Amino acid sequence: MLDAYLKKLCTFSTEEELFHRLFRKHSSIMLLIDPETGTIAEANQAANAFYGYPQETMRGMKISRISTQQEHEIQDEMRQALAERRNYFIFRHRLADGTIRIVEVHSSAIDLKGRILLFSIVFDITVRQHAQDMQRLASLVYQKSSEAMSVIDGNGEIMTINPAFTDITGYTETEAVGKNIRILNSDRETPECYRQMTKSVRAEGRWQGELWARRKNGEDFLRRLSVNTIYNADGSVQCRVGLFSDITKKRETDELIWRQANFDTLTGLPNRSMFHDRLGQAIKQANRADQQVALLFLDLDFFKEVNDTLGHAMGDRLLQDAARRVRACVRETDTVARLGGDEFTVILGDLHDTRSIERAVNDILRTLAEPFQLGTEQVYISASIGITFYPGDGTETDTLLKNADQAMYAAKAQGRNRYSYFTASMQEVAQNRKRLVNDLRIALHEKQFRVYYQPIVDLNTGRIHKAEALIRWQHPVRGLINPLEFIPIAEETGMITELGEWIFRQAARQVGAWRTRHHSSFQISVNVSPVQLQNEGVNHESWLSCLESLELPGQSVVVEITEGMLMDSSAGVTDQLLRFRDNGVQVALDDFGTGYSSLSYLKKFDIDYIKIDKSFVQNLAPGSDDMVLCDAIIVMAHKLGIKVVAEGVETELQRQLLAASNCDYAQGHLFSQPVPAEEFEQLF
Ligand code: C2E
Ligand code: CA
Ligand code: CA
Repeated sequence: MLDAYLKKLCTFSTEEELFHRLFRKHSSIMLLIDPETGTIAEANQAANAFYGYPQETMRGMKISRISTQQEHEIQDEMRQALAERRNYFIFRHRLADGTIRIVEVHSSAIDLKGRILLFSIVFDITVRQHAQDMQRLASLVYQKSSEAMSVIDGNGEIMTINPAFTDITGYTETEAVGKNIRILNSDRETPECYRQMTKSVRAEGRWQGELWARRKNGEDFLRRLSVNTIYNADGSVQCRVGLFSDITKKRETDELIWRQANFDTLTGLPNRSMFHDRLGQAIKQANRADQQVALLFLDLDFFKEVNDTLGHAMGDRLLQDAARRVRACVRETDTVARLGGDEFTVILGDLHDTRSIERAVNDILRTLAEPFQLGTEQVYISASIGITFYPGDGTETDTLLKNADQAMYAAKAQGRNRYSYFTASMQEVAQNRKRLVNDLRIALHEKQFRVYYQPIVDLNTGRIHKAEALIRWQHPVRGLINPLEFIPIAEETGMITELGEWIFRQAARQVGAWRTRHHSSFQISVNVSPVQLQNEGVNHESWLSCLESLELPGQSVVVEITEGMLMDSSAGVTDQLLRFRDNGVQVALDDFGTGYSSLSYLKKFDIDYIKIDKSFVQNLAPGSDDMVLCDAIIVMAHKLGIKVVAEGVETELQRQLLAASNCDYAQGHLFSQPVPAEEFEQLF
């Protein structure tokens, strides 16, 4: 075989011919390049196949057609090869179909019949180069990654780590390699947790999760870890690769964001959004255990007053303290949430009997009624609580909340510092109220209001020189509606201001008429609601100029206020009252005896009349407690230069007893009900 080959070789006529044959047939890619012209003088079959051009095309082809690089880039590579003492160049060649390959070109100059050509052997190293690049990249990633990496053997012994591992854990490579990966274990995780992880890695080769680890300095950190296994061909473990990052900070900020979204910053209690979640959970749990949930809606009484008089900072402290107190009245598993302002909710789950609720509610009322120490001030408040049950009163969280709110309103209406259970009739009341609010808005425009007048009789002479203006609402459908029903609504919605203006004008016009026709010093009293004096306030200018335009003195009207208003220390109310006084308008204190009945306030505000509440008058009998009280009030008032009006006088006996006690005036059904102006005139 070899013999035959050698014989064949010897048949070549010349060395040159031998070269040409070798060149053409050789399986390596070979080119003969003419450096003078930059063209391919000859390409072998392997080259034709590789580049994808036929023999004829390649012969004489400009080298630039297969080179993707600029002349200077080629020069650079040549210089680099020289510097590295390489006998080859690395170029990027383009094939006929456009693909680009990385080639290693070994060139040497040869003399062919006096022509100097570059004999180049081309190796396609694309795949090898790619693999090298990938490896370099992998190593770069390993080195530069911010993610810690460790490679451990089947027994957990550390084989290698990357710099990020050192950054995060504090262990250098020399300290870590050879140690067991357990050096990172923290006792914030249970041994059971590690056992589970090992089990899963052994069984599935993988594990992923978050767990606490310990740095070299003993500090714990939370890491997100993933473990993967590389197996040998025989299925045995070659190594395991652990990748982790420190997510302690991220967890902290996540938690902070979560807290801010779900908890009230002032009190630390769950906020409205969290409350809804918790109520939903409590309901689910109750369904499973076939139990009830009680929802309490709690509103602090007089909180606004504290906030207004002592300032927001003190108000905040009160809320914090109140939150703590409420929290202490319920179990750990119950939820106390702050919905905003001075509104709190309590979810009592896991209820076996309703007595435990009353116990909790009474505890809450009691603890909130105890004094609050705010700086140097001692403050008393109370709470009104509404209670509703799941599933008895409602099944939706929104419905339950609305129920509890309504029940709370009922507790407030019943006099505060108490609780009230939700009942179906409350819903009716609430709906009724909503309708009234709507109707009230149009009532003034539709001229549905009337002013009635009730005579105030002089007990000495029996004559009528005074009257009280009392509003009536003639509702188109419901008929006459009592002011006690709609005045509070007008107050809450602010409509009272407009209504009050209207009443005042009516009364002023009426008193003008009666002054000219009946008695020159006739006087009409007008009820003024606290809301009118607070907030925007009564428009004095308009009231006084109204009187002026009617040529009436201030003395022709009396404003009736309640004691609560005198307690309001805000400058507004005091100013308002003094402005009236300056213009001769007199002031009467209504419903006297039902509130604080403080003498010092009577003097301070220079009250002209007090009106003894009808609840005292109703039970007057010689020698009765109420008789004693009435006597005392009258004596005291006279000492202070104040005149007394007795309200609700219904019987002749009451009139006589009051007259005997020197009461100045009386008002009541005995003389007349409140009546329209025309009817009133018949009383003269
Ligand atoms: P008030 O100011 O204490 O008015 C006296 C109430 O006692 C009136 O009730 C009157 O009708 C009633 N009354 C008079 N005589 C007797 C009697 O002999 N026996 C009994 N049992 N009651 C008698 P009314 O008109 O239903 O008004 C209720 C409350 O509504 C008033 O109490 C007042 O607080 C408020 N109000 C009435 N009109 C106005 C108004 O124009 N503006 C404001 N802000 N409030 C008003
Ligand atoms: Ca009155
Ligand atoms: Ca009254």
